[in-house]
Amino acid sequence: MTISVDQRPTRIVVDLDRIAGNLDRIRTHTGTPAMAIVKANAYGHGLVPVARRLQQAGVDQLGVAFLEEGVALRRAGITVPILVLGGIFGPQVGQFLAHDLEITVSSLDKLRQVEAAAEAMGTRAVVHLKVDTGMERIGVHHYSAAAFVEAAVASRWCEIKGIYSHLACADDPTSAMTALQLERFLEACAHFDRIGARMPLRHLANSGGILHAPATHLDLVRPGIMLYGVLPDPAARATVEVAPALSLVSRVVYFKVVRAGRTVSYGATWAPTDDTRVVTVPIGYGDGYPRALSGRGQVLIHGHLYPVVGRVCMDQFMVDIGHDSAFNEDEVILVGEQRGAMLRVEALAEAAGIIPYEFLVGLNDRIPREYLPPVEA
Ligand SMILES: *Cc1c(COP(=O)(O)O)cnc(C)c1O
Repeated sequence: MTISVDQRPTRIVVDLDRIAGNLDRIRTHTGTPAMAIVKANAYGHGLVPVARRLQQAGVDQLGVAFLEEGVALRRAGITVPILVLGGIFGPQVGQFLAHDLEITVSSLDKLRQVEAAAEAMGTRAVVHLKVDTGMERIGVHHYSAAAFVEAAVASRWCEIKGIYSHLACADDPTSAMTALQLERFLEACAHFDRIGARMPLRHLANSGGILHAPATHLDLVRPGIMLYGVLPDPAARATVEVAPALSLVSRVVYFKVVRAGRTVSYGATWAPTDDTRVVTVPIGYGDGYPRALSGRGQVLIHGHLYPVVGRVCMDQFMVDIGHDSAFNEDEVILVGEQRGAMLRVEALAEAAGIIPYEFLVGLNDRIPREYLPPVEA
């Protein structure tokens, strides 16, 4: 076997068919169309390969955070509708129209900016109105929605495709906030009926809403983390069975015996009480493997769980394998399955004191990504 210079022994393997399967299970559960959220490099899974697979699976719509992500998808030949969820930066509005991207209109000012750009280009902008029902992030407050809806309906240059809001606490199945936000949202939507205008697509549910609050499913759902087979929170209930799509794999590059009392890694924070066998794995916080997993993470080797010992370095970390054996080039699973054992993102994130989202999007481009089934580069 020839190994080329760019084949470092660490990689992310993404099972695209699992993502497509998760989309199917979500749509079956909600009985609505879905806007698959692929922002932040598709939660670390790879923007373009994931979007292509979702398009092939017949996804209704994609959602990204920023204009740049939408443009990257159009340049890659993605043709399904794409909504940019983030607040728009005025000078960029023309670019949305040039790339056939749907725009989040989150204030009267933004509505005017979009109208001006659309008029100047002689085209109609496809927009989704953003109502703030409890995030205080972007959007017109639900209690001020009447004038906003009226102005948007009256606009000659905007086609209102949707109206939406975002849930603040849906990860927690017991939070009273979700029902309150739904009520506020429906009151805002009712302004369309009041003025006799056609009701656009009403959408509210993120993964938490999909899992825990069927009343929030409305006309369209916006799954993000669930699409990738990961639950949003340790308190979440797995009411839809989704399968994790991402594995993080490396290999042993060094083996040694560490004598009792000899400290391991920066800060000399850990030493074995008895002589032990320690292997080195060539990935670190420079790849996005959280430094907070120092002394807290685990890996799988030969189907057994072993602890990360000492501090995680930028490019390497150490694992105590006790009296077991492991050889150079043996496979190390950092996330995923090995011989029936499983290491989940949810557990690693909890050990690191972060949320599963942060773990996934932290895995950066220094780690090559491989796809199943394989995709063209
Ligand atoms: C990121 C995002 C989502 C997806 O959230 P998940 O919790 O990952 O399902 C949905 N809607 C909006 C507006 C978002 O920004």
